[in-house]
Amino acid sequence: MHVTTELVSKVLQGNVRAAAKLIRGIEDAVPDALKSFETIYAHTGKAHIIGITGAPGVGKSTLVDTVIADLRQRDITVGVIAIDPSSPFTGGAILGDRVRMSRHTGDSGVFIRSLATRGYVGGLSKATISTIHVMDAMNKDIIIVETVGVGQAEIDVTRVADTSVLTMMPGMGDSIQTMKAGILEAVDIFVVNKADQDGAHRLNAELNSMLAMKNYLSGDWQPPVLLTEAINSVGTRALVTEILKHRDFIAAGGELDKRRRARARLALMEAIQDATSNYIDSEIDSSYLENIIDDLTQRKLTPYAAAGIVIGRVIRQVTASADGK
Ligand code: GDP
Repeated sequence: MHVTTELVSKVLQGNVRAAAKLIRGIEDAVPDALKSFETIYAHTGKAHIIGITGAPGVGKSTLVDTVIADLRQRDITVGVIAIDPSSPFTGGAILGDRVRMSRHTGDSGVFIRSLATRGYVGGLSKATISTIHVMDAMNKDIIIVETVGVGQAEIDVTRVADTSVLTMMPGMGDSIQTMKAGILEAVDIFVVNKADQDGAHRLNAELNSMLAMKNYLSGDWQPPVLLTEAINSVGTRALVTEILKHRDFIAAGGELDKRRRARARLALMEAIQDATSNYIDSEIDSSYLENIIDDLTQRKLTPYAAAGIVIGRVIRQVTASADGK
């Protein structure tokens, strides 16, 4: 117990080794780490979370690296979660860029963590969400979540991000047409990186004309399109300024509260699902479950009807044990 308290207070002081230990512990579901995590939760909710997505190779890592440098010049502390899809297509290149970003590791105002998705297709793993909370508790002002956008991941990152940045590069005009509608709705800032290459202005124009077709209400945030050359740190200062502007905008207009409530609801629903299935796994008689599964297999029950029956049993069992006390 003492160890747990010590770890928590070190994390709250921003200690990198303690934070790394806690994150590892949560990933491996070590009971002490999970207990510590419960304790730090009250100290989260302060950081501004930025999602940076885009296809592999558009320059996300290079961009994040320059954004970190700029934020540090403004005395803003930063946490970075770089999500490595453990896909055979991207492995090498991504590793190379992590090395570049690591120039910041000597700076105590920066904490960078790579997370492998371990074959988790689409979506953000629980480890990502926990890591965000740990960095938040460490008092990082801004937390950047960098993900390779391959469809679903873009939407998922926008669910956890206060500010969503979608990065594209010249030659990607076609992909605008095929982009899922939900992605465009959820992006707060568009970046056309590699503006030193042919086609950047064309992509910029295409994005702008697509955005012009949307009807924004007065008082809505109008997503800007920014041109950057991450590799030369050109346009990146303007990007950081725009991110901070969006942060102030959603805080002032009530949108931040709305996003945070939606996120809290999601966390609640996920916790209810987890708690219910954990209870069923540990407390409900397995032969009872097997009978229900038999009925399902033989199509005597539908999954929803079966779930209703099992939940009914959980409620009776919980009530009985409460009465027995
Ligand atoms: P990621 O896969 O999206 O993280 O992309 P990277 O940051 O790894 O960048 C992919 C490649 O594009 C690297 O070789 C970078 O050096 C290069 N790159 C990044 N930004 C620019 C840029 O503004 N202009 C040019 N020409 N190349 C860039």
